[in-house]
Amino acid sequence: MAGIYIYSDKKDLAAELAGFAKGTGKEAIVLTFDEKAAEELKDIGASKVYVLKGDSPLAENYGKAIADLLVKEGAEMFIAGATVRGRDLAARVAGYLDCAMVSDVSALNYIGGKLLTERMMYGGAVVQSEVLEGLCVVTVSAGKFEAVSGSAEIEEISIPADNRVSLIETAPIVKQGADLQTAEKVVCVGMAMDKEGDLQMARDLAEAIGAEIGCTRGIAEERHWLPVESYIGISGAIIKPKLYISMGVSGQIQHVFGIRDSQTIVAIDTNEKAPIFKAADYGVVGDMYEVVPLLIKELAK
Ligand SMILES: Cc1cc2nc3c(=O)[nH]c(=O)nc-3n(C[C@H](O)[C@H](O)[C@H](O)COP(=O)(O)OP(=O)(O)OC[C@H]3O[C@@H](n4cnc5c(N)ncnc54)[C@H](O)[C@@H]3O)c2cc1C
Repeated sequence: MAGIYIYSDKKDLAAELAGFAKGTGKEAIVLTFDEKAAEELKDIGASKVYVLKGDSPLAENYGKAIADLLVKEGAEMFIAGATVRGRDLAARVAGYLDCAMVSDVSALNYIGGKLLTERMMYGGAVVQSEVLEGLCVVTVSAGKFEAVSGSAEIEEISIPADNRVSLIETAPIVKQGADLQTAEKVVCVGMAMDKEGDLQMARDLAEAIGAEIGCTRGIAEERHWLPVESYIGISGAIIKPKLYISMGVSGQIQHVFGIRDSQTIVAIDTNEKAPIFKAADYGVVGDMYEVVPLLIKELAK
């Protein structure tokens, strides 16, 4: 079936990718390796859900089989969620197809039958635009498209596995920080904080508005005051809360990359020229040690 073929091991992301495909007016065909996942994926607005059955439990081993399937079906694009597994599979599929691939696109549009992609480079300082022709592969992270709904047929397809990758061991990652990616409100602590004990001030503000605590990289990676999952930015969490409040964050591009999809950005910084004020909707030029307690006091009223 011609159309856009989608793979994501995260259902919500698959739904967003299906939303993109539907928006182009093309067929959306979702690929999964698991019948249980197929049951969940059948309501995300795709035309079809293919359950790919082979004798390997690893998605990585189906790169060649998926590439062959795409060619056989006359697919126009393979779009994978930019998760660890999605990125891996996308790269393998593109390799077997020997086709154009763009990773982590920030925008995708069909213009005159050609696919125009945009992606951020150099920490968001530059937007690279590329036009892809023919069958191509892209990866997209969460939050770029609106999910849709609608039911699809499920069809099982047998595919051959290339068993050169085998699973030796699985071990859970113990997460310590809040799930910032789904948080509706985030209070972000910057390097202006003098001592670890002052985190309580950020916690008090967070509690007053029902927010999670995030931070800039140095707070987590240099000072180790908060878990690494808490830092926001190009090499940390990419967030899109309704409200983001920064306390002493200068707003370097590597950090702003992770917050720019926030609905409302409020920044508190002593330096009126701090770049965070360019990204902010509301700015308070002032000492956070004075401003935040006042804010907490007002919120308590
Ligand atoms: C390859 C690479 C990747 C990176 N990835 C990330 C990333 O993912 N996330 C990230 O956060 N960083 C990242 N960084 C680091 C980034 O470049 C910045 O160094 C970092 O974001 C700065 O953190 P900050 O704003 O907390 O500190 P600073 O830049 O030191 O800013 C502190 C701010 O606090 C203000 N201030 C001082 N005292 C007060 C006070 N009392 N009240 C209010 N304001 C005050 C200052 O005016 C200043 O603006 C990366 C860097 C590189 C090179």
